[in-house]
Amino acid sequence: MGSFFLFFMVLGVFLGFIFGALFPSFSLSISFVGELFLRALKMVVLPLIVVSIAGAILNMETIDKFKRIGLRAILYYTTTTSLAVITGLVLVVLLKPGVGVPFSGNDFKPKEISFSLKELLVSLVPDNIFKALVNFDVLAVIVSTILFSLAVLSVEWRRELLLKQLITELDTSLMRLTSWIIKLAPVGICSLIASKVASLGGASALKPIFLSLSKYVLTVLAGLSFHALLTLPFLFFLFTRKNPYSLILKVKEALITAFATASSSATLPVTIAVSTAAGIKRQVANFTLPLGATINMDGTALYEAVAAVFLAQAYGMDLSLPQYLTIFLTATLAAIGAAGIPEAGLITMVLVLESVGIPIEGIGIILAVDWFLDRFRTAVNVLGDIIGAAIISASLEEK
Ligand code: ASP
Repeated sequence: MGSFFLFFMVLGVFLGFIFGALFPSFSLSISFVGELFLRALKMVVLPLIVVSIAGAILNMETIDKFKRIGLRAILYYTTTTSLAVITGLVLVVLLKPGVGVPFSGNDFKPKEISFSLKELLVSLVPDNIFKALVNFDVLAVIVSTILFSLAVLSVEWRRELLLKQLITELDTSLMRLTSWIIKLAPVGICSLIASKVASLGGASALKPIFLSLSKYVLTVLAGLSFHALLTLPFLFFLFTRKNPYSLILKVKEALITAFATASSSATLPVTIAVSTAAGIKRQVANFTLPLGATINMDGTALYEAVAAVFLAQAYGMDLSLPQYLTIFLTATLAAIGAAGIPEAGLITMVLVLESVGIPIEGIGIILAVDWFLDRFRTAVNVLGDIIGAAIISASLEEK
């Protein structure tokens, strides 16, 4: 994200608040622009998830490689992502940044979800993949994508795999489409914020929004700092008995690049370069870092969980334990499905919100600070990838 674009994002946020506060009826009349932006985001979610997961698995080349390095990587990714989500959930429940924010519109009806672990397990495997796609059943879509991709890997093809090329091409094109949608973000943000502020009563709504947004930002930042400075270093020390902070210092260029670009993928060349220079085996780095840039996003997972609960609090929803569990699972999966590009977490956030029936219009308010939080969570995503590669590299050395 260039600094020019960043300027327009900030301008969009700023103008959104101004329009919403000063010209509420005009702001409501242009709310369809924001709706278009949200619909476009929803449009790319499922294809993006399928293609990025299938691509990551097919890039493993052989099932053996998948077993050797891939399984370790996936074990590490799921553990650290889960820890990140738990950190976020604990903080957002304790600090309650969304309580008292006047969000709920009159038309809002919380969705009743019946939930049991057995049902969840059964629903992981769709009996009809097309139905799963139509119903936006992300868990089922992800599981079938993983199973299918593993099947493709296990067949001994006698020629260059066309499917792999197809997926790479789809991936590139979807990334392009996503980047177009993201280009609309400043206008979409402006419209969403303006109509949200206007529907909340214009100028009088600004103070509580700003107050609660600052609490929301601080909650996300506290969670990210905890994860980056305590959880990940602790895991690194546990497995390698080396000083984690000296590794963090050695790879700081990657973290700064991540902060500057807000994109794990754009940072990847730097990530690989500094990691191998810091002593991580090249074979491990070349394989796990691209995989990690696609599917391992601790910062994004943490932020999605905090954002979802923040919005639920703001809408006055009382989340039940199964709903928290649903947020835990979908935030983890949404982070896996998010592309390593600016604001990708915002796209997959739709999944988390939909899973427990939080109105996705709530994203409008979060957008106001998202460009800012994106940078921090991307740096944490990249740090998670590097520490993972370092741990896997060390574990292979022991053999
Ligand atoms: N920008 C993040 C990344 O590239 C993804 C996100 O939006 O959370 O890692």
